[in-house]
This record gives sequence, structure tokens and C-alpha cells, in this order.
Amino acid sequence: MIGLGYVGLCTAATLASRGFRVVGIDNDETKIRSVRGAKAPFHEPGLNNLLGKTIKKKILYVTDDVSMVSDTQLTQIAVGTPSLEDGSIDLTYVKKATQELGDAIRAKQTYHVAVVKSTVVPGTTNTIVRPILEQSSGKPIGEKIGLCSNPEFLREGTAVNDSLHPDVVVIGANDAKSAGTLKNLLLGFHGKNRPPMIVTRPETAELVKYASNAFLAARVSCVNTIANIAQAIPDVDVTEVAKAIGHIPRIGALFLEAGPGYGGSCFHKDLQALISFSKERGYDPTMLSAIEETNEYQSDRVAALSEKLVGSLMGKRVAVLGLAFKNGTDDVREAASIRVIDRLRKKGASVVAYDPAAMPNAKKLLVNEVEFAEDERSAIKGADCCVVMTEWDEFKRLRPKDFLREMKTPNIIDARRIFEPSKYEELNYVRMGLGSSK
Ligand code: NAD
Repeated sequence: MIGLGYVGLCTAATLASRGFRVVGIDNDETKIRSVRGAKAPFHEPGLNNLLGKTIKKKILYVTDDVSMVSDTQLTQIAVGTPSLEDGSIDLTYVKKATQELGDAIRAKQTYHVAVVKSTVVPGTTNTIVRPILEQSSGKPIGEKIGLCSNPEFLREGTAVNDSLHPDVVVIGANDAKSAGTLKNLLLGFHGKNRPPMIVTRPETAELVKYASNAFLAARVSCVNTIANIAQAIPDVDVTEVAKAIGHIPRIGALFLEAGPGYGGSCFHKDLQALISFSKERGYDPTMLSAIEETNEYQSDRVAALSEKLVGSLMGKRVAVLGLAFKNGTDDVREAASIRVIDRLRKKGASVVAYDPAAMPNAKKLLVNEVEFAEDERSAIKGADCCVVMTEWDEFKRLRPKDFLREMKTPNIIDARRIFEPSKYEELNYVRMGLGSSK
């Protein structure tokens, strides 16, 4: 496994937990040190447990030495694929990892399969990875080496379980030999509880990943649009609307929570990459741009709701509860909280923030921009307004009396809709997606 981030390390650890000998490679020394000590370098429930079981027994071995891949039969590339400034995909890490992989297997005599697990735009595996791999390894794709695409669908926060029990496996291959090798590995990994496995062309597999993220992001922006409309109708709550439509099989019940907009390392970057990819081919996918604009607007909306409740935010103290883009993770990449903090500060507010897991990452991103509190109670102490940005269980345990006691004025914007509105009638409480008659 080349790249031990959220995807690579969770995949490596789950493979090892089912008895596959895995070599995990990363060029970040701090990460290697942490994993060697059986400690995940990021917050992911269940991962430390798996590392504890697999690292000490050396079923999972981690190193920064790429040449170790020559000892393996199959190598997955799970390095990052961030955005360039214009939104298009940055393949620098994929290209470098491919080059290093090719160099490492140059002298290898037996068959080796390279698998692109990173999210890459259609055509990347065959037109970018393939020539680099063939050139660096000195072997054409076919008899000696194989090349597949195998996009990943796991979610941070439930990544271990998602890796053990994926909804679907998609293998993009050019030939039966490489597809068969990867499929056999995955059949062995999943045993009797095998997920649906789709074997297709690499380009199709690559597009499946973007299609999946486009549909999921569309759902978020769609339910947020309905939430914003609901908020203009007294006593209508989007939760009830979502629950009802969730019964319609064509819609389905999952992923219908309204809120401050999606975040995380994937949706925004992948939508931007797909928009850019599509425009380069002469088609402007306006719907994808609308999904993104709707998402961006949710942050303006949180700030505007705060202003509506408090009045001018100039010089006001606003507590932001939650920085991670969702609960169960410490990832703040593209988190809605970061956008909202930016909007609040532009309106003159001073922000005090707390998150049970994501403070170390947030501190790197929000240098000198916010005050960090020690816990949720100290965050709301003396605040003029509180904005709930992540649905952590810790925050759900706060009671109306806590806000009444600690805050200067109990103004609450519940952007994650974690509190029961009927219990908050005495406070200045606004739940996103709930129409108020006040
Ligand atoms: P990440 O940034 O957490 O991890 C990438 C890792 O690769 C880092 O540890 C980095 O040090 C390492 N790396 C980079 N170049 C390297 C090289 N040449 N050799 C060795 N290591 C190298 O990224 P991530 O979130 O795990 O995502 C990886 C890929 O999977 C991306 O394409 C992403 O879009 C996709 N993906 C991510 C998720 C998710 O929820 N995070 C889900 C599905 C797919």
C-alpha cells in the first residue's frame, strides 16, 4: 500500500486483520513512526485496535522504503489527489508513487499488479499511470505486470467498517489476468460475505467514483435547499419532510440530513475535478456547479442566521462547537466550520471554538484566527451566540440550562439540528431547516 492516509491505512489494516501480509509505505516519517507504535496518525474509530493486532505480529509492516514493494504481489496506490488552483486534479503524488513503484519492480521476475485506489479522473490509469509504470518498470502491461483501477468508497469516521464491509467493489481492468488477480485477493478478503463486484473498464471505474460523489453531494445540496424553504414556513421542520420522502424507495432514507453544507476532503475537490474535466471536453455540467454554489451558500446562511439572532456581530463573542467536517473524525479539510468561521470573522465577531477530536488539525489551519477552548462548556462561557457545527455526542449532552447559565445571551444556531426544539423555547434558538413563527 503506497500512501497511509485515511484510505491507505484503513485498507492496509483491515487487509492485515484478515491475515494478508501487507507492507504499508508512506514518505511521511511522523506517520510511519506513529503507525509503528500501533497508533493511527489520525482519528478513526477502531483503527488503533486493528493496528495493535497487526503491527506487533508484523502482518502489517510499515516503512518509507518503496523498494519493499518488490516483495509483494500487488501494490495499491492510495496517495492524495488534491485540486490545482483552477479546480482540476493534481496528479503529482500519483505520478511520483507510480514512478517509484515501477522502479521498485524493475528487477522483479514474477507477475505484479499495480492498483490505482486514489480517486483519479477518467483516463488517468490508462493514459497517465500506465506509460509511467511501463517506462519505469521496463515492462509493458500484459504478461509481466498488470494495472487496475479500484476506487474507494469508504467514509471517514466509519472507515474501518466500510473497508471490511463495502457496499460495492468496482474493478477497472484492461485484461483478465490483472482483473482476476485483484478479484481473487478481494474474494479471499471478503469470504462468504462478499459485496457486489463489478468488473469493468478502468475509465468506467474511475467515473463511477465521481458519479457516486456527485450524487451524494447533490443529495446534500437538495435537502439543504428544501431545508431553507422549510425554514420560511412556520412550524415546518425539514426532518419530518426528509423522513417522509425517505420512505419512497426511489429516494431512500439515508443521507438526507440538512445542515451547514458538506465538507471533507472529497466532495468539493472531486466535484471541482469533474467540472473541470467535463469543461475541458466541451460540456459545462451546470448542475454540478449549482450543487457547489448551494453548498457554499449554507455557510453564508449560518452567519446570516447568527446576525439575525444577535444583531450586528461586530465585537460579539461567538462560540463554534465542532470543527471536524462531521463527527467521528478529526479531519477539517474543507469543513463547513472553517467557512462559517471565516464569514463570522468578516462580520466582526471574535470566535472561540472547541472540537473533541479536531483541535490539533484546526490549529494548523486557523492560526491566530480563533481562540480554542478546553471543552464545550468553556467555549460557550460568556458567549453572545453559539453555533453548533459538528454533531458530536458530547454536544448533544448539553442542556438548555447549560446555555442559560454559561452564555452571556443564550443565542443558539443549531446548524446540525442536534437539540430538541420544544426544550429550547425559552432560549433564542434557531434550528436550521425549522420554520419559526417568531
Ligand atoms: P491522505 O492525504 O490522508 O493520505 C495520502 C498519503 O499518501 C499521505 O500520508 C502522504 O504522506 C502519502 N504519500 C503521498 N505521496 C507518497 C509517495 N510518493 N509515497 C508514499 N506515500 C505518499 O489522503 P486520503 O484521504 O487517504 O485519500 C487518498 C485518496 O483516496 C485520494 O485520491 C482521495 O480522493 C481518495 N479517497 C479518500 C476518501 C476519504 O474519505 N479520505 C474516500 C475515498 C477516496
